[in-house]
Amino acid sequence: MHPSLDQAREILRRTFGHAEFRGLQAQVITEALEGRSALAVLPTGGGKSVCYQIPAMLRPGLGLVVSPLIALMADQVAGLTQSGVAAARLDSNVEPRERAETWSRIEAGELDLLYVSPEGLMQPWMLERLSRTPLSLIAIDEAHCVSQWGHDFRPEYRMLGRLAEMYPDAPRLAVTATADNRTREDIRAELRLKDCAEFVASFARPELILSAERKRGAGHKRVMELVQARPNRSGVVYAGSRDSADKLAEALRQAGAPALAYHAGLDKAVRAERLEKFLEADEAVMVATIAFGMGVDKPDVRYVIHADPPGSIEAYWQEIGRAGRDGEPAEGITLYGAADMAWAFRRLDGREVDDEVKQVQGRKIRQLYAMLDGTACRAAAVRRYFGEEGVAPCGQCDVCLGQIETLDATQAAQKALSAVHRLGGRFGRGRLIDHLLGKTKDPSAFEAGLSTFGVGQELSADGWRDLVDQLLFDGLLREDPNDGRPLIGLGDAAEVRKVYRGEREVALRKGAEPKEARR
Ligand code: ADP
Ligand code: ZN
Repeated sequence: MHPSLDQAREILRRTFGHAEFRGLQAQVITEALEGRSALAVLPTGGGKSVCYQIPAMLRPGLGLVVSPLIALMADQVAGLTQSGVAAARLDSNVEPRERAETWSRIEAGELDLLYVSPEGLMQPWMLERLSRTPLSLIAIDEAHCVSQWGHDFRPEYRMLGRLAEMYPDAPRLAVTATADNRTREDIRAELRLKDCAEFVASFARPELILSAERKRGAGHKRVMELVQARPNRSGVVYAGSRDSADKLAEALRQAGAPALAYHAGLDKAVRAERLEKFLEADEAVMVATIAFGMGVDKPDVRYVIHADPPGSIEAYWQEIGRAGRDGEPAEGITLYGAADMAWAFRRLDGREVDDEVKQVQGRKIRQLYAMLDGTACRAAAVRRYFGEEGVAPCGQCDVCLGQIETLDATQAAQKALSAVHRLGGRFGRGRLIDHLLGKTKDPSAFEAGLSTFGVGQELSADGWRDLVDQLLFDGLLREDPNDGRPLIGLGDAAEVRKVYRGEREVALRKGAEPKEARR
């Protein structure tokens, strides 16, 4: 006899204090209670933990929880212990005396849940010692870490596949908040979950009102405007660097906004104090780097502004997901530019990882900017990215509201692409635009003799800048670093050909088009 869902609900109420299961929890728990493995993709805050905690408490034996984050493990174990659950952790931070005590509880069959890191678990002596203890289940948290296609690949996760043979009788539960199709396939293959059930929750966050705009000029002026237009409420502003977070917070404070900076460069005590202030305030603006976020659960965050764009669509969803936790409307506003994308690629180039990983990460960067600069419903684009099917437009993002008007710029794009082709990738953006406009300091230069010289009178320099950015976002052009003086070259050849032939249209965001544009 398997434990029943009613018993599980009883624990949910008594131990965790929640009245009912939410979303897919009941289904995932049923699977585990009956001893079957499963893959569950639930959004952050969706309540993944009880999906394995409750079955581990109800089934006989020890429940192993593999988690990559030691800091989070300590929190979880402390919370569980407080609720009266027999839980412990074994990681590199645990003192020898506590270790010995935990082992004796394991061996006496007293523990329901044991939290371990993947590298800790897979040590031969650890596996050997654990092999004498019957397991109720094995939960693999943050399972996307097993995949190179995911955004934080952890090579040590690869070893976890072996658990399938070592513990053929223990159901294995892989849970994650982020897994596109490719990542899910990888999880199933690597963790040997081929035939198991897969539960993918909807990633819809109907309370989030999304928008994205290109940065205009340098500096923080636009961010200041956005924050000042939203008084008497709390928000988070993500900045790309510590320095930028400090400066922006200072500028906001001088303008009278209750802003605090938060980043990893600050003293631990200062961070804790600011976090507490933010959590308690009715009105506060946290200007932070991505160091801010883990475990931040403030229900009434009314907006998240990215002063600099996030690193990927996964990061985007997670970061703006901190707004509107109370279910009331909240905004996610992202500022981005071609320079940000170029910088993301440069940073990726500097990383010492396999070419294959680089390709995947590069594609993720492109997908992010295609979404930000795209002309499809933003919420729908993100949800499709996460593998949801049949997603309807949200009806409230800037795209759905028609705030992003476009005009057909296919012809202008053809001109820009041919100019880049003729110039053989020898020009940076500024000179390329001068070329299209027919401006040159030296009329005898080779470029003045090219047929593309001066063909671009229909747009102003600003209009061309926007179009070139868009072609970069779309991958039709690419920027080569060239020691900090980037040169523009042609991008994906097949796609460029389609534009030449008129088989692919290029839509330019309106507003990008200067009013004085001549035809
Ligand atoms: P995740 O790991 O998916 O981000 P957690 O497991 O930490 O989410 O749960 C997020 C929050 O939701 C926690 O505060 C948890 O207590 C709460 N929660 C979980 N399940 C339920 C439920 N069935 N009803 C209400 N709240 C729940
Ligand atoms: Zn929309």
